[in-house]
Amino acid sequence: MPMSMWKKERPRELPCRICRLNSIQGSLLDEYPELRLVGPWKFGDLYQCSRCGRQWFLHTHKQRIGRIQDNLQDLAHRWNENSLTTDASILDVLASIGGVADYFKDQIAIPCSVQTVAGRQFQKALVLVSRQPPYFWYEPERVHWAYELATVAPSPFALPLDVRKASAEKREESMGFAPVGILDKQGNEYTLVAEGRFFDWRGIVGEEIRLSGRRKKWRKKVRPEPPEAYFFVDWFERCEDRLVTRQKT
Ligand SMILES: [Zn+2]
Repeated sequence: MPMSMWKKERPRELPCRICRLNSIQGSLLDEYPELRLVGPWKFGDLYQCSRCGRQWFLHTHKQRIGRIQDNLQDLAHRWNENSLTTDASILDVLASIGGVADYFKDQIAIPCSVQTVAGRQFQKALVLVSRQPPYFWYEPERVHWAYELATVAPSPFALPLDVRKASAEKREESMGFAPVGILDKQGNEYTLVAEGRFFDWRGIVGEEIRLSGRRKKWRKKVRPEPPEAYFFVDWFERCEDRLVTRQKT
């Protein structure tokens, strides 16, 4: 695929009727002939809108095609053009922390502390072993790459694996509200209102948190703490076996 062409054709006009949408179910793709296949990416496929030139990403399992946000186009292309691997020693630490995969198994998320090769320190870093690029929702300045990882370590702000798993698997009870009951070491109860990887609230940090088992009459509602930085690592064969720790039953 001619990448140099892409830069010249970068859209400047307003999004067309289709590109005002954020994403379309993969099964409906045939109903949008304006979205044309450009070619395969390292995972999934790149499409382009023939009306306004915007680019779209079709996920590996073709479950969804999502518009690449204007402010993330350069990062999405950089993701595709680079091989994002990391050392076995780093993967060993990530495996010991344990990751949680999303429903379609496009990403495994592992919260940790990171020191970058440039010497930056993040205590709330999320490593994403991913077969999708950063193409929507991310703040561009928080997106980093596997080759920036110098060392990783457990983070005191990271929620334990069973809490992260419960909050990833919890279905929404209402729009944007997927509550999971948690408690701190003093027995104070809270409710995580959405999928959480970190917790840092009034001096209480993630490593102190446990599942409360509460199923209703939700207590103090707390938003999960957002990551400071995301580090993209390419999805690799058997990464689930390596990184997603099975829960004891
Ligand atoms: Zn368009």
